[in-house]
Amino acid sequence: MNSGNSVAAFFITAKGRMLAGNIRALYPRLIAKKYSAAAVRDAWKKHRTLIFIMASGIVVRTIAPLLEDKRTDPAVVVVDDSGKHVIGLLSGHLGGANERAREIAGFLGGEAVITTASDVNGLTAIDLWAESNGLIIENPDLLPRIGARLVNRKGLKAQAGPEIQLPPDFQRVNDLVEADIIISNREAAAGRSALLMRPRNMIVGMGCNRRTSVEEIETAVMKTLHGAEISFLSVRAVATIDFKAGEPGIIEFCKRHSLDILSFEPDELNSVPGVEHSDAAFRATGAKAVAEPAALLASGMGGLIVPKQKFRNVTIAISEINKGINSVKNGVSKSGGKISVVGTGPGDLSHITPSALRAIRESDVIVGYGTYIDLIEDLISEKEVYSTGMTHEIDRCRKAVELSGNGRNVAVISGGDPGIYAMAGLVFEVLRQQDGKMLMPEVEVIPGISALNAAAARLGAPLMHDFASVSLSDRLTPWETIEKRLDAATMADFVIVLYNPKSKGRTEQIGRAREIIMKHRSPETPVGIVRSAMREKESVVLTNLEHMLGHEIDMQTSIVIGNSNTFVWKNLMITPRGYEKKKQFHP
Ligand code: SAH
Repeated sequence: MNSGNSVAAFFITAKGRMLAGNIRALYPRLIAKKYSAAAVRDAWKKHRTLIFIMASGIVVRTIAPLLEDKRTDPAVVVVDDSGKHVIGLLSGHLGGANERAREIAGFLGGEAVITTASDVNGLTAIDLWAESNGLIIENPDLLPRIGARLVNRKGLKAQAGPEIQLPPDFQRVNDLVEADIIISNREAAAGRSALLMRPRNMIVGMGCNRRTSVEEIETAVMKTLHGAEISFLSVRAVATIDFKAGEPGIIEFCKRHSLDILSFEPDELNSVPGVEHSDAAFRATGAKAVAEPAALLASGMGGLIVPKQKFRNVTIAISEINKGINSVKNGVSKSGGKISVVGTGPGDLSHITPSALRAIRESDVIVGYGTYIDLIEDLISEKEVYSTGMTHEIDRCRKAVELSGNGRNVAVISGGDPGIYAMAGLVFEVLRQQDGKMLMPEVEVIPGISALNAAAARLGAPLMHDFASVSLSDRLTPWETIEKRLDAATMADFVIVLYNPKSKGRTEQIGRAREIIMKHRSPETPVGIVRSAMREKESVVLTNLEHMLGHEIDMQTSIVIGNSNTFVWKNLMITPRGYEKKKQFHP
């Protein structure tokens, strides 16, 4: 999601111009323009979101001739001239207008006006639900009708395989005739009055001769799918042998249809049991077969739906992605799984962001451990939690990736911020290892208040000027590197935040760190020691370099070391920014 991307705001009055400027704080790349019908026409196809600061009547008249399709039209948000009301006018769900309206209203202190019926009635937004579960709606023209039915009846009947988790207002039915929604990859499921959702769970295994044209590939795939009555919308990826991943025809075909390419080495392909082998293929490629084993591997050893079909220059096999995959090694995945790496802040729930709460609410499985999970216990009481028995963060990350491969929405929980000495980087590293071997899940990193923010707030304002943070844990970083960084940061007069200062098994480092810092800083330099910030047993100590080791320091402690200008006043630790040198500062 890139909501900040490509936003244009139109204003008429001087006040509107100012408001547009304010809204830029939310969307840094926002382009503000004076309103004219021509300017709007010009912007229509260029931007994902258009914000109008004016009467809704003007907006409706201006955009009416430009409207085409709710899937492609930009989101339109109307803000009144004083920012009191923010209306999600057009493309409320998929375009994100409702979300933008809430963001802008929250920011301006105004009220978001949302009129899409499902939101107001607390019912599932059908299009959004489909999107977030990786389902493609084949006949979106039916959306308004089915949406109205949902609002009127407070529920819908859906026909779907057991692996699809339905929202509470969808009732599972077996009969295609009574279903309002059919979730299936089979053409035969097509009924006239039901909304059709296609899971993207088919893999096309492909072998081809060099320089096979994209047209021939396309025809072969279409014929094969048609013969098996499989919807093309359900195809997720093309799987092939490693050196064919660069074949122009395959690349072009995948690009045209937004398909991933997964590729496997000959050894991997040869390890798949029970597929028909060809000597010609072996001589040419080193693999005894390509299309079938590639399809099987990419689908997590799911079911072969269509065995090898030979065309002039192409062979095709189709397999369905395994519904209960439990290994990422073979390259897997079912559509829909998402990983949210969520920062829960330093302590209690009052310091978690609304976005983090939303991500936790929307996930099926929680991966995290220890204190961080305990602190958000109330939030996750009804969720599946992977916590104990996995002390290693690498195991937890692998578990998260594996669960997302099985189509689950996973929240990986980190205390503080997830990208600061925490899980976000590791999730990406684990995924990178699997690149080209599995379908990549969507990953969202949700920031949190880090320990340094929390500690600074408790101490006063020690981070007002340039600072460096150094973790004293030498579990993953050689101690010499840590010493070098401490030395450099001290010499450059950075305020220094120490993370991981001490643990049961690591007690010496803090003393050594202090020695290094003392080389360049006076013993009177203010030092703040904050334990368990924003938690029940919080403690805050203000001391100095000379005396800092006389206070309790543990795993839940962050330490802030002042720079040469940091001072203490009324029990607050303050690093001056430099204002006192300005004339205006002196009354
Ligand atoms: N991702 C976390 C940091 C994890 S490293 C964040 O952004 O805050 C763990 C270290 O963070 C601890 O050893 C301690 O130094 C610091 N820490 C985490 N929570 C803290 C808290 N509530 N109070 C003080 N320090 C904390």
